[in-house]
Amino acid sequence: MKNIMFIAPPAAGKGTQAELVVEKYHIPHISTGDILREISKEDSEIGEYVRETMASGKLVKDEITYQLIEDRLKKDDCKNGFLMDGFPRNLDQAIEYDKILNKLNYEVGNVILIDIDKEILEKRITGRRLCEKCGAIYNINDENMTPKIESICDDCGGKLYQRSDDNLESFQTRYQTYLDKTEPIIDHYKKQNVLKVVDGNDTIDNIFKKIDEIIK
Ligand code: AMP
Repeated sequence: MKNIMFIAPPAAGKGTQAELVVEKYHIPHISTGDILREISKEDSEIGEYVRETMASGKLVKDEITYQLIEDRLKKDDCKNGFLMDGFPRNLDQAIEYDKILNKLNYEVGNVILIDIDKEILEKRITGRRLCEKCGAIYNINDENMTPKIESICDDCGGKLYQRSDDNLESFQTRYQTYLDKTEPIIDHYKKQNVLKVVDGNDTIDNIFKKIDEIIK
């Protein structure tokens, strides 16, 4: 199958859609946000830098992301397709990503833009909760996504937590960063003829159906 890349503003549901895609197609989910969150737990200089940058809603330095993306793509499980989520986030990263893909003999595949209104995102951001054990995503502002028991994961019983950058102030910065830095990459992929746009102002199931049509 073709590789997949998601582009979406913060809290557009790309993590939720990514889970559905990898469950159905059994391909690895490469999320720079997840990888960086792991690094942010390290008790080191880089751990501290990543922790502070992520909490502020800004992007971490490009150089940090290049190495971790290349290392991840070199692993054998990427040979039958992979889902790239959260990278590239700016034009420099997109240009570097083209080079990395070229070097490893991979194609960018389908670039899927989840297009969604800012008002919906603001509502979602304050309600998002994640399971600290299995990473499942909930939303207490959406009746279809609330856990059955408050603060407990339906799937594994793990405790739910709120991401430190899921607050309105950090959201404003992340959204502005998206407009300034990430939106320009849309043109980059339009020119390569690989961009597919999906309307994200819809239910999880309907959005997944549209994404699935593209992947098929
Ligand atoms: P996400 O989980 O994709 O929303 O990413 C959370 C945060 O991780 C972002 O706000 C950035 O601080 C950082 N991050 C994730 N991916 C990248 C990237 N490709 N380049 C720089 N920073 C990133």
